[in-house]
Amino acid sequence: MDFARIAALVTAFALAVPALAQNESPPQTPPRLVVAISVDQLGADLFAQYRRHFTGGFARLLEGAVFPSGYQAHAATETCPGHSTILTGAHPARSGIVANRWHDLDVARDDVRVYCAEDETVAGSSASDYTPSAMHLLVPTLGDLMKRANPASRVVAVAGKDRSAIMMGGHNADFAYWPGSAGFESYANATPPAALAGINELTVAAATEPRAAREVPAICAPYNRAIPIGEGQSVGTGRFARERGSARALMASPDADALTLAFAGELVAELGLGQGEAPDLLAVGLAATDYIGHSYGTEGVEMCVQMIALDGLLGEFFAGLDARGISYAVVLTADHGGLDLPERQIAQGAPDAARLTADFVAIAGEIAEASGLPAPVIRADGPFGDFYIDRSVPEERRAEIRDRAVAALTAHPQVYRVYAREEIMAQPVTDAPPEHWTVLDRVRASFHPDRSGDFVVVLQPRVTPIVDPIGSGYVATHGSVWDYDRRVPVVFWWNGARHFEQPLGVMTVDIMPTLASLIGLDISDVEIDGRCLDVMAGLTETNCP
Ligand code: ZN
Repeated sequence: MDFARIAALVTAFALAVPALAQNESPPQTPPRLVVAISVDQLGADLFAQYRRHFTGGFARLLEGAVFPSGYQAHAATETCPGHSTILTGAHPARSGIVANRWHDLDVARDDVRVYCAEDETVAGSSASDYTPSAMHLLVPTLGDLMKRANPASRVVAVAGKDRSAIMMGGHNADFAYWPGSAGFESYANATPPAALAGINELTVAAATEPRAAREVPAICAPYNRAIPIGEGQSVGTGRFARERGSARALMASPDADALTLAFAGELVAELGLGQGEAPDLLAVGLAATDYIGHSYGTEGVEMCVQMIALDGLLGEFFAGLDARGISYAVVLTADHGGLDLPERQIAQGAPDAARLTADFVAIAGEIAEASGLPAPVIRADGPFGDFYIDRSVPEERRAEIRDRAVAALTAHPQVYRVYAREEIMAQPVTDAPPEHWTVLDRVRASFHPDRSGDFVVVLQPRVTPIVDPIGSGYVATHGSVWDYDRRVPVVFWWNGARHFEQPLGVMTVDIMPTLASLIGLDISDVEIDGRCLDVMAGLTETNCP
């Protein structure tokens, strides 16, 4: 090919390219409704994998300000800490939400585990049957600050999990709802909205009636492959058929998100959100992706069907907001990422993936036995994260027991490192970019001295801390310090937003100050760990103060 031919092609190409449409300007008036959506376990990897297939709500958001490498920067990548960062701008070290459950060795009850969204001071509240509360959240949420600025602001949180609704709704939500035993429920003293009865009829019907298997979209066909997990069982080919009366199967299906979004939409309409005298906040927690990830992993046909279904549901939800003529701004992110089950990782080119070995579980018992002290000597809520030396251990033996436990755990080949409390607390919370945080930086951002353990255990990368996938019912999980669990998308959209994509790392603690700037809310007196992201994509204008 000669150069003249190339030149002709270039000319033809230039002629064939239509003039770029001029984007609308950023909104002249601040949005009247902030819609904060958390898709539980929507890791950045999962979002990247499916984004080219989105045509619905996700596709609309991708026309806005896209941060594909957001970080839940801290170590404890669990649901409660993750949701606590999104609307507070605070790492768990500041918010106090260090885990889904931690140990309060001073609490006056037999089971000293406390739930993150519990008020354990209420008589009868227990680790398994707790009294829901936001009292453990030590910082205000965006909604709390909106109400401080103008009590006419309404704050509504609807989620597929209580800790999601409570951590995003904050201390003064007008309505906070999550699934209970007979549909959505709230705090004991809550006044129910009119929409509750109808949505709960739907929820109970969905939980009690059988459902036929879903169609598999063509793009999901390549994922439709059975992965054996032992005892003749497999995952990877599920289509969300339900037996009569299977509430658990409902939760791990796209129908759960449909119900949450339907309820959220009903509340927008009933309360006139976005159409009052002050800006309102709607927080939506969509839990199905998480339950599906735990039940079937992230790389099977089940997750593909969920991603496409959720894309469609979000599209319908936004269309409903459009139809009401509301000026709204959306942020969508996740509380943490996730990791596929090791059996499929191994089958797909990651031979170092593994389940935690059973011998790990015995370590705490061996330490107790060797100490000659009555068990439990060491307490933990699982094989990683915070470990506590029990109060029953005499003061003069605590250091010895601690050192013995640290040595035994460190010697296990699936342990990356064990960090002692003193080492963690000697480290300031870093303000480095999140992709450059050391593991100790991550652990520090999850550590609150009043709630965290005497030492923190970090497992090696690609270790799934589920020894028995069949007995537990969960085949895959999250919660680690590693980036597959830390990285989440952060996407802002409003009508007229100018598209750009910023591949550098940002943090979920940046979301709150960014949303505050979009609605003109002064938070200059609030201590936050994040910073305002300029989402205007303008050379002269900025949303940030
Ligand atoms: Zn979660």
